[in-house]
Amino acid sequence: MTNCVFCRIVAKEIPAAIVHEDEHTIAFMDAGQVNPGHVLVAAKGHAENLYELNDAQAAALLKTAAHVARAIRAAFNPQGLSVYQANGSAAWQTVFHYHMHLVPRREGDGMALTWPAKNPPREKLAEYAAKIRSSLPG
Ligand SMILES: [Zn+2]
Repeated sequence: MTNCVFCRIVAKEIPAAIVHEDEHTIAFMDAGQVNPGHVLVAAKGHAENLYELNDAQAAALLKTAAHVARAIRAAFNPQGLSVYQANGSAAWQTVFHYHMHLVPRREGDGMALTWPAKNPPREKLAEYAAKIRSSLPG
């Protein structure tokens, strides 16, 4: 058993609202995180930073992020979408597992992280994840 929460989500030891999963990546909304509305896109396999991903993982990660971003756009029609990537102790993280945050934005949000309403109720995440999944290609 690992202490990495991302690896434990991949192993289905911790529940999360899965948006997409393939050989190299997993995208999910995590009921346990501070901002539960983000969609997190993570490489499978533990890698602490971008330079530790192999080429297949790196390509798959960006492809998944683009597909999920388009699905978010189709499902929720935000005015924009911010992508955050911050890893490691320099980002004050305690769990080091390479990932990106996809955060839909609306005018007036400022730096607030809005999705599709601020601080969505955690019981809605499975519904939101299903709505995104239904907008993914394939
Ligand atoms: Zn990990």
